[in-house]
Amino acid sequence: MREEISAGGVVLFGNAILLLRKFNGDWVLPKGRIEAGEQKKEAALREVLEETGVKAEILKYLGEIHYTYKENWDENKAVHKTVFWYLMKSRNMDTVPLKEEGFVDAKFIHLDRVVDLARYNDEREIIKVALEEIKKRNKKSANYGRPDTKYERLAEHRF
Ligand code: ATP
Repeated sequence: MREEISAGGVVLFGNAILLLRKFNGDWVLPKGRIEAGEQKKEAALREVLEETGVKAEILKYLGEIHYTYKENWDENKAVHKTVFWYLMKSRNMDTVPLKEEGFVDAKFIHLDRVVDLARYNDEREIIKVALEEIKKRNKKSANYGRPDTKYERLAEHRF
């Protein structure tokens, strides 16, 4: 079976995640083939930029997914694919979908809607991992400078 390896991004801006809409209406995450001599991270950032026009930076590795598909619907041409995913953040919301690859839209979708919109179950699962990580980060930054425990809070109150 032929092996294919790609990398992609779950790109965050504010309270939204970047999805691409294909010509058939499917919403997917940006990703693409890792080129010879390229690092996974580099490929993920390059593909996000090429497919969506978004210049992002990597925050964290999220995990990998696997699926198989039949090339040109040919039963004899099965491809096993691995995709490595990274949580990324963007500094702005400007997007340019890569029309040549059949993408008609690139949009930041609100965190509340993004899982339901994504076409593939395995991409949904990766988005859920990203949402957990985002929640963790938001909690940390909301607590920044605050006392850690009830007792520290009490102590702070007293002295
Ligand atoms: P890449 O974006 O990595 O360059 P590609 O556009 O050539 O890849 P895929 O997006 O992997 O190809 O699509 C190949 C086939 O696999 C299509 O039939 C597509 O519907 C299906 N497919 C794409 N993504 C997934 C997924 N996450 N889970 C299951 N099947 C998928």
